Amino acid sequence: MKIVLASRNKHKISEWQATLGKYIDGVEILSLDDVGIYGEIEENGKTFEDNACIKALAAAKSGYIGIGEDSGLSVNALDGAPGVYSARYAGEHGNDKENNALLLKNLSDKADRSARFVCTIACVLPEEKNTYHFFRGETEGVIIDEYRGEGGFGYDPLFYYEPLGKTFAELSAEEKNAVSHRGKAIELFAKYLKTLK
Ligand code: IMP
Repeated sequence: MKIVLASRNKHKISEWQATLGKYIDGVEILSLDDVGIYGEIEENGKTFEDNACIKALAAAKSGYIGIGEDSGLSVNALDGAPGVYSARYAGEHGNDKENNALLLKNLSDKADRSARFVCTIACVLPEEKNTYHFFRGETEGVIIDEYRGEGGFGYDPLFYYEPLGKTFAELSAEEKNAVSHRGKAIELFAKYLKTLK
């Protein structure tokens, strides 16, 4: 089974391949480049679902199952920010260092440090171009004031996961996948895929 993930990020593609491959034998995750879809996809939605749909539809143009994944951090004391702006919270897309620094600055006078990571997957099947299937995973944590751990990416060094007593950046890739928002959403998606076989 071939699936096109609306991403050009090799790290993300291989993470998906490893995670979904555990549930579905012979699944092959292709990137947009792999199927000859070039150019920017404008992620201008107001919700994770909106952005996941925009990406899934672009991927489904390939003729294969199209997947869009949108994820981010939602902090309660900041009314859900950075939310859909997680990747570009401080302005420049993907500048993790500045995004983390701004998060700590905005939380400096806040007592409530509770937060959650959210991952939304939208799926479009080739034969049903106007129908989206959604899968959502969430993981609760706490934003701490010091950076801990070297693994992961994004807000991982500040996201303390209480059940394991570690930040996400202190977990191995496998440990993180077992409890993360993305791991949970991919598991739900895998269960759905099995019903299609
Ligand atoms: P996108 O879904 O690729 O657009 O990524 C959204 C942004 O959310 C990333 O750039 C990170 O800043 C943040 N994010 C999403 N998932 C994670 C995660 O697992 N760890 C840390 N940050 C994340």
